[in-house]
Amino acid sequence: MSYEKLYEEAFKVLGDFPLAGSGFSAGSVASALMTEQGNIFTGICIDVACGLGFCAEHSAISEMLKNRETRILEIIAISKDAVMPPCGRCREFIYQINSRNIETKVHLSKGKALLLDDLLPHRWNINA
Ligand SMILES: [Zn+2]
Repeated sequence: MSYEKLYEEAFKVLGDFPLAGSGFSAGSVASALMTEQGNIFTGICIDVACGLGFCAEHSAISEMLKNRETRILEIIAISKDAVMPPCGRCREFIYQINSRNIETKVHLSKGKALLLDDLLPHRWNINA
C-alpha cells in the first residue's frame, strides 16, 4: 500500500458540507485506513458542538469494525490543505481497538510516516 493510494481513497470522501439548519458541518477532514486483510475503509469528521462530533479516523475505524476487523496496517487523515497527524484521542483510540495497532504506520506527510508507537509513547497500560 502506498501513501498515494490511501490519500486518493481519503480524497474521494473529503469535502466540507453543512449539516442543515445547525450551523455545523462535516467532511472537512477525511481518513482512509488499510487493514491486515487488505481492505480499505474511509471516514469523515463531523464538526458539531459540545464535543459531540468526532474525527475522520474515528468514523473510518467504525467502518472497519462493521467488517469485524481491528488490525490497521496504515492510516492517513487529510484536509483540503494538508495531511493531518492523528489527535491524541485518535492515537489512543487506534491503540485500544487492537493493541497490535501500536505497529500501525501513520502517514504524516508525503514521504513521512511513523509507527503509532512513536506517536504514543509511555502508554498508560504498557504493562497490560
Ligand atoms: Zn482525532
